[in-house]
Amino acid sequence: MLPASLDEAVTALAASPAAVPVAGGTDLMGAVNAGLLRPMALIGLGRINELRGWQYQDGAAQLGAGLTHARMGRPDFAALIPALAEAARSAGPPQVRNAGTLGGNIVTADPSGDTLPVLAALEATVTLVGPEGAREVPVSHLLTGLDPMRGGELLGYVRVPLLHAPQVFLKATGRSGPSRSSVSVALVLDPARRAVRCAVGAVAPVPLRPLEAEQWVSGCIDWDGDRAIDPAAAAAFGEYVASACVPEPPGGAAPGSGQDGKDGGPGAAAVRLRRTVSVLARRALGRALK
Ligand SMILES: Cc1cc2nc3c(=O)[nH]c(=O)nc-3n(C[C@H](O)[C@H](O)[C@H](O)COP(=O)(O)OP(=O)(O)OC[C@H]3O[C@@H](n4cnc5c(N)ncnc54)[C@H](O)[C@@H]3O)c2cc1C
Repeated sequence: MLPASLDEAVTALAASPAAVPVAGGTDLMGAVNAGLLRPMALIGLGRINELRGWQYQDGAAQLGAGLTHARMGRPDFAALIPALAEAARSAGPPQVRNAGTLGGNIVTADPSGDTLPVLAALEATVTLVGPEGAREVPVSHLLTGLDPMRGGELLGYVRVPLLHAPQVFLKATGRSGPSRSSVSVALVLDPARRAVRCAVGAVAPVPLRPLEAEQWVSGCIDWDGDRAIDPAAAAAFGEYVASACVPEPPGGAAPGSGQDGKDGGPGAAAVRLRRTVSVLARRALGRALK
């Protein structure tokens, strides 16, 4: 089935509830090929033009779920939502970015999904469309299961507030070249609310928001001046974010204890993870404020 509109796709899904929607297929076909999924039928979303672009709406951008990573990585999109463009540019090799979509990344909800911490930091919402109409749900509620997708619903749009201020996405991977995040950090400035918002991806099943660290660092910034921050405060922010997002290894991380990250002792992985989160958060803040 290849519907040409979102309404047609919702109708097709209602008529065939066992069918599975497919956008770029980069996640879905992997699951099929691995024998994890045997869909009775597929509903292809790739011909729905209304889902492949974006439009402005009351100070926000309404993004179609069918936007590909490649499209989001282009300069015109990067000028609009820089952190999302950066995440899209790093989401796998070119052939995956050409096919993989924003909607698929959200619905798959893999912890290493690169768009997810960005959407969490931006406090984006999604429009879910089903036989009973459309409803808007915060991305964070969708990801945590507080407000999950219902049977027969499709993800139509993602609404992202336009902040007109620096925003940064950084990711660490276990190896060089395009690969999955082992840690990712999204950080956005919201000058109108005099706020820094940050989300850490890949360290937990859903992106984590270090709310106290955000609030603390927002108070360290001279919002009316040059927005500079003391390097010690930036480093403290990194530590604050890391301690909020990665549990302390049992017994702390004393040098020589096997928990200082220098050997493979118990807790060493948690220590390394904390360090990585701390460095990425400090760096992201520094870049946003430079
Ligand atoms: C080699 C490789 C490397 C990758 N590297 C990265 C990476 O570095 N970072 C990263 O974030 N991701 C990565 N990915 C994952 C993948 O590319 C993304 O998750 C992609 O965004 C999924 O989009 P899709 O359109 O291909 O989804 P699909 O595979 O088509 O669908 C995925 C799921 O979402 C559902 N779905 C899709 N669209 C909708 C919709 N509009 N409404 C309701 N349900 C929908 C489908 O039913 C399915 O359950 C990688 C994948 C591969 C194969």
